[in-house]
Amino acid sequence: MFEDLQQVLTGRLVTPDDPDWEQVRRAWNLSVDQRPRAVVVAAGPSDVEHTVAYAGAHGLKVAPQAGGHGATRALDGTIVVRTDALDDIWIDSDARVARIGAGVRWGAVQTALDGTGLTGLPGSTGNISVVGFCTGGGSSWFSRPYGSGAASLRAAEIVDAAGERRWIDDASDADLMWALRGGGGNFGVVTAAEVDLHLAPAITGARLMFPIEQAEQVLTAYGKATQEAASQVTLWAYLVHYPDVPAVPEGVRGKSFCMVDGMTPYQPEALEAALSTVRAAGTPVSDTVQSLQPSGVGEFNSVPAPPQALSLITSTFDELTPDLICTLLEYCGQPSLIFQVQVRHLRASADAERPGVAATDPAAQYMLLAVSIVQDPQAIAVLQKFQEALTPWHAGDMSPTGLSAWGSLDDCYSPADLARLRDIKQRVDPDDTFVGNFRLP
Ligand SMILES: Cc1cc2nc3c(=O)[nH]c(=O)nc-3n(C[C@H](O)[C@H](O)[C@H](O)COP(=O)(O)OP(=O)(O)OC[C@H]3O[C@@H](n4cnc5c(N)ncnc54)[C@H](O)[C@@H]3O)c2cc1C
Repeated sequence: MFEDLQQVLTGRLVTPDDPDWEQVRRAWNLSVDQRPRAVVVAAGPSDVEHTVAYAGAHGLKVAPQAGGHGATRALDGTIVVRTDALDDIWIDSDARVARIGAGVRWGAVQTALDGTGLTGLPGSTGNISVVGFCTGGGSSWFSRPYGSGAASLRAAEIVDAAGERRWIDDASDADLMWALRGGGGNFGVVTAAEVDLHLAPAITGARLMFPIEQAEQVLTAYGKATQEAASQVTLWAYLVHYPDVPAVPEGVRGKSFCMVDGMTPYQPEALEAALSTVRAAGTPVSDTVQSLQPSGVGEFNSVPAPPQALSLITSTFDELTPDLICTLLEYCGQPSLIFQVQVRHLRASADAERPGVAATDPAAQYMLLAVSIVQDPQAIAVLQKFQEALTPWHAGDMSPTGLSAWGSLDDCYSPADLARLRDIKQRVDPDDTFVGNFRLP
């Protein structure tokens, strides 16, 4: 099968018979052994149109994928459409908008913004695609002042279930835009998008590293600093155990730390005020504050770009109480199968720029992520036990970009929002051709 499709494509169609199938079918997250039926490496938007039309005619399913940071087994049996070659970037600084192809990563947008005084909404790595991020919610270093990735999505060019390409926005199809802002790839393949840009004339980033033994007092001070922080200041805290392997820089290799990172788009004094509360709580072994260009933001966390195997769980809470700190330290205070726990201080305001199912941040003050980089079923069991232990503090649903590979949209949206998503899906994709990494329950 697939001969007819191969003939009309400009890009590649790769199937299990191809010698490089094992490599091409892989996602960025190597812990997810995704097994599509075929992969189309699209050379341009018309390859996406051909693929969707072919799938529709043959009762097959299509799953868009950029890098595969959000890979799940929902993509098994589908034709995965890779969007890397859709890499155009067009910036209008006056209108504060970026128009990007679906394969563009935040790192490339941020590099294009160097020297403009503007930023997009990169999260912990510049290697994540703008479209995957925004259609899944998207929590950025700048989400406290500027909102979620979903809320920044102005308009999208989609290939619809008929295999036709068209631009949509709130004026032309408000319901579909609402669904795209958090409903992922279940409603069509986005081939390009327009996203908001935001003021960032003096981006400043900071990292304070303390010995893990000081974690209790540092986390307590972090809780206080976040409560007092200005809305333009974002603070993330970590418990991290660097593995003793050559890939890790010598200074931190095999060591454990409690760290606090800070970022602001333009208020270095407010960041400094927040940091001083944390600094006073212990004796930092490293204390750096630096001006950043937009391109430096997605690099700040030093997340490796090459594919990795990782598993994560997430949770939310409203207050960093002594009991919660005790639980964090019980599970993550010493080296274990959990590599890192990250706590993010969330949105300063609940207002969303635009309507979308994931346009507002979780209705909680903080989000927590725990990550394992060990490919061992035992690691998932430990993560799940930790997640259970966090239940008493759980304070609101996550957006899909915060879900585990085994997560479900049930964990993100209310029954009413899920019903509305299903109604929109029935209208735009009645044959269920499109498959997102989290399918509609
Ligand atoms: C190391 C790491 C760090 C991360 N940091 C953050 C962070 O700081 N903030 C945050 O919010 N998330 C973060 N994430 C989660 C990440 O945002 C999600 O995995 C997200 O799905 C984007 O990743 P991607 O671009 O690789 O998307 P992919 O995995 O390629 O795609 C994920 C899904 O996005 C949708 N999608 C992708 N392309 C299209 C398209 N063209 N048309 C329609 N739908 C599409 C589909 O549903 C697809 O299954 C992180 C993940 C990892 C692994």
